[in-house]
Amino acid sequence: MQTGEVSYTLVSFHAHPDDEALLTAGTLARAAADGHRVVLVVATVGGAGLASAAVLAGGALAERRRAELARSAAVLGCARVECLGYDDSGMAEAPSGARQAFARADVEEAAARLAGILREEHADALTIYDPAGGYGHPDHVQVHHVGLRAARLAGTPIVLEATVDRGRLQRALRLVSRLPGVPADFAPARLADAYTAPEALTHRVDVRGYARQKRAAMAAHASQATADSGVRTLGVLLRLPRPVFRWALGHEWYVEHGRTPARPLLDDIFASLARSTST
Ligand SMILES: [Zn+2]
Repeated sequence: MQTGEVSYTLVSFHAHPDDEALLTAGTLARAAADGHRVVLVVATVGGAGLASAAVLAGGALAERRRAELARSAAVLGCARVECLGYDDSGMAEAPSGARQAFARADVEEAAARLAGILREEHADALTIYDPAGGYGHPDHVQVHHVGLRAARLAGTPIVLEATVDRGRLQRALRLVSRLPGVPADFAPARLADAYTAPEALTHRVDVRGYARQKRAAMAAHASQATADSGVRTLGVLLRLPRPVFRWALGHEWYVEHGRTPARPLLDDIFASLARSTST
């Protein structure tokens, strides 16, 4: 951060440990490196996520995922990590049946918890997910609803939906699906309606300078990269050669609430604040 620049507080809200690495890791690392305060909040410890039998046998999955989250957060420069304490709901076709499933949680109650953190932190910006939760996981859809409500309760000025440029994702998937050993369910068609159409995006954040931290954050979530039932996304992405990784994951996309999409896309997640405070 240059002399005279303002330090902001960014709260990044996610469903499960490892989601922060996939969608926002570069943005968080860049904000922290620029001198801003970065706070990571996850709704669940992700106990119902797929993982290999070997990892499950090695101890409680939730404990392991908590430790992985702490490692990822440390690599990214997060000043604080909080978990709202809900359970992973599982995918719609295979619900976990957990009593405290986040997807079935009362939105007001969950939002009040997150709003408490936003107020404590005097958060300037909050990242949530798009209304479809990217690829439709019920916990990710709930992050959108709970996050939006919490920002209203706390009066957080900037709300950013962390998403992916659908067009770019399709091109990246076509590339990845050609790698040896990648299963057929990694086909581009599976995610044809996922995330956000390019014309709806407001931000394209350049995080190529933070590829090392992003890769390290992904690698920290080792239990998610070793699932028995098919290659998980992280496992596939970590196998990309470094230059390809930088190309495929060197930008992160957002839709800012209340901002009309315009070209060129914004690179600064705090742009709305910078403009409102400049004289
Ligand atoms: Zn997730």
